[in-house]
Amino acid sequence: MSDFSRSASTRPALCRECDRVMHLPARAPGEAAHCPRCHHHVAGPAQRDMQRPMAWALASLVLLGLVFAFDFLSFSTRGVGHTMSFVDAAGAMLGYDYPSLAAILLATTVLLPGAYLAALLYIAAAAQSGARVPGALVLARMLRPMEPWMMADVFIVGVLVSLIKVVSLAEIEIGASFVAFCGYALCLLRTLMLIDWVTLWDALAPVPPLAPEVRAGRSGRRQGLVVCAGCDAPFHDNPHHRCPRCGRRHLSHGADRLQLTWALIVTAAILYIPANVYPIMAVTTLGSTDPQTIVGGVISLAAHGSWPIALVIFVASIVVPISKIAALAWLCRIAGRGGHADSRSQMRLYRLTEKIGRWSMIDVFVVAVLGALVQAGALMAIRPGAAALAFAAVVVVTMIAALTFDTRALWRDAPTGDR
Ligand SMILES: [Zn+2]
Ligand SMILES: [Zn+2]
Repeated sequence: MSDFSRSASTRPALCRECDRVMHLPARAPGEAAHCPRCHHHVAGPAQRDMQRPMAWALASLVLLGLVFAFDFLSFSTRGVGHTMSFVDAAGAMLGYDYPSLAAILLATTVLLPGAYLAALLYIAAAAQSGARVPGALVLARMLRPMEPWMMADVFIVGVLVSLIKVVSLAEIEIGASFVAFCGYALCLLRTLMLIDWVTLWDALAPVPPLAPEVRAGRSGRRQGLVVCAGCDAPFHDNPHHRCPRCGRRHLSHGADRLQLTWALIVTAAILYIPANVYPIMAVTTLGSTDPQTIVGGVISLAAHGSWPIALVIFVASIVVPISKIAALAWLCRIAGRGGHADSRSQMRLYRLTEKIGRWSMIDVFVVAVLGALVQAGALMAIRPGAAALAFAAVVVVTMIAALTFDTRALWRDAPTGDR
């Protein structure tokens, strides 16, 4: 058995969001640790051992297996209809010549989370037993960057929106696969909440030692310290810029990253034009086809009295992407000038932007589900349009922009106690 109390002793840590060096205190089970300056969630909740997250990860994987064993949804109108499995949603996208949308759908809902859960079980079992197993460090450092891309919860909302959209036009039946998918998504969320990465990493490999003159309450940059992008360990920068614990490169400071974020913001803003100009889907009813843009879809839903759904799509597809692009551009401008007096509210804005961005994918999932489900020939059919691809690209590019943004630039002029 691994000695988990080893990781419970006080040790230095470096906040990846504001670059403040701190003492990470010993934590009782259930306790989390936050950065005293920016309130970044640094560790926890602390676990007695790895059994609880492992149990939830296993439950999640079993339910994911059941998703593929049953029917997902059934649809019928005037005696014509069909039943779809979960894989049919991606298959329909392929059939309509949108392989990239099929890939995004499968990757974000089942492939990435499935790989994440299996790898987590492997490394948590290694940490629990104290055994050195091959590839554990490489796998562990790959897992956290995957977390924002796991969108099983967003997909469920997408399915619910799709069902409300068509329920008045046709008969819908919910299959056992959809119930299993909801269970899988909930267990996945619970697993993510329970993993204590600090304890897990400390059980896999020891933290690199720091020079005795390193002081808490000061910025890492002024003391030649950097934080690892993979395992969060602070270390003295070396010629290879690689973490002595996991081998991953550290988070670099500097203008290059800001330029990259700017480039991604501009790309997203440009892609948002075709996403609104072209139709996102085409609805065929009794032989006549009606192409709908994002805005057109919202107006048509509101005109038919579906206010709640119109509001969901309006917020997810119009308000969120536009405010995300605007907020990131504003933050980049401030970061370029070397920070601003009110770092804490900027940090809050950044975290909000990062959290809500993935929910814009709802409309893409709605198009995928409706495209696969509503197939009754000339009676009624829905096919995705070119805007679905452009809009998915907007969501992906803005998410990458938020992830590349270096929040430490917002804190450069904020007091740390070392001025
Ligand atoms: Zn901080
Ligand atoms: Zn590392």
